[in-house]
Amino acid sequence: MFDINLGDWLKEKATGAVTELIRKQKRILISDTTLRDGEQAPGASLSIDQKLAIARQLDILGVDSIEAGFPASSKEDFEAVRLIASKIRRPVISALSRSSRKDIEATVEALKGARQWSISLFLGTSPILRKYSLNKSQEEIISILKDAIKFAKKFTDRIAFGAEDSTRTEPDFLHRVYEEAIDSGAVVIGIPDTVGWLVPEEVKDMITGIRKNVRNVNKALLGVHFHNDLGLAAANTLAAVECGVNVVQCTINGLGERAGNASLEEVVMALKARGDYYKASVNINTKKLFATSKLVSELTGVEVSPNKPIVGKNVFASEAGIHQAALLKDRRTYEIIKPEEVGQAGTTIVLGRHSGKHAINNRLKTLGYKLSEPDSDDMLGAIYQRFMELAVTKKEVTESELSDIAKEMLERKKNG
Ligand code: MN
Repeated sequence: MFDINLGDWLKEKATGAVTELIRKQKRILISDTTLRDGEQAPGASLSIDQKLAIARQLDILGVDSIEAGFPASSKEDFEAVRLIASKIRRPVISALSRSSRKDIEATVEALKGARQWSISLFLGTSPILRKYSLNKSQEEIISILKDAIKFAKKFTDRIAFGAEDSTRTEPDFLHRVYEEAIDSGAVVIGIPDTVGWLVPEEVKDMITGIRKNVRNVNKALLGVHFHNDLGLAAANTLAAVECGVNVVQCTINGLGERAGNASLEEVVMALKARGDYYKASVNINTKKLFATSKLVSELTGVEVSPNKPIVGKNVFASEAGIHQAALLKDRRTYEIIKPEEVGQAGTTIVLGRHSGKHAINNRLKTLGYKLSEPDSDDMLGAIYQRFMELAVTKKEVTESELSDIAKEMLERKKNG
């Protein structure tokens, strides 16, 4: 399918033909940060073994890179990154690092056992972070980032640089930050919407502005890391893809700080299901999405809401009678994605007070009841009536309850 992956690309210089090819093919590289940003979600902490289990699953899912942690932030993070780097061989393993020599040294130490690894440097650039978090001037920020990237370059060419809170940074300054970062050796330019502030039209303006105003922008790939505070993370990520962003950071189940990050399953399935529109290619084994979602939910203890797109338990279930009748004839009537495409069990027709006669008849057949002619319509009507009497008293009627009703009604008829 694809003859390149992020690792191959990172092996090349960013100016190489591979960068061109990725852009030309509209190849979207998925960088999963479930184990870093996702794990920072309140109550989602994972043990080292659990992290390794998720990393294995992400490998099976086919992500291009795994952001495995933030090694300088804690001993546990360091050990987890080191373990994942030594065990997971296909994807690129990356780790987050502040733009300081001390952090970079720790990060390199944690990553160096990986088959292929990259480092994700970040530095606050917005006025509010410059003032309250870093207490640095614009000039100082530029000199810190140059020093950090040049220092990291001693260990690897695979350097991503993200301007923290980029979406609230003065555009002129941000363009200069990226220009200096690329000149210093960054091959991926990270554009994080750290606080989930932008709306899709602004994302387009911002990316277009970067592509227009950053002189050396073609020497790097653009990457986004978007948060979901306004419920727009996936929409914003897709808007960025439309404007030529090739690296997309997301998390399983949209896990992450506060309202979370762009959800991997939503972004990937939008790109696939609406391939006619996006015309981008993404190398994910979508049949593994549901299993991955379940594993992450089980291990973090963070439940997935039933109506969560793609992986929620209700998204391939239908209770409304009109929908059920149509779905039973052709699933394309109300389904834009096949459940098996994302690893969910087949379409479920939920039996409840919104169910129609057609769905009941269909379920009776699958339960093995044959209503004999010529009075099958009457019998179905009688069963349906009893079914509805029960359905109005509860949320869902189970198959065995329906079966009991059918048995009883058929029995009654036999006994006259
Ligand atoms: Mn984040």
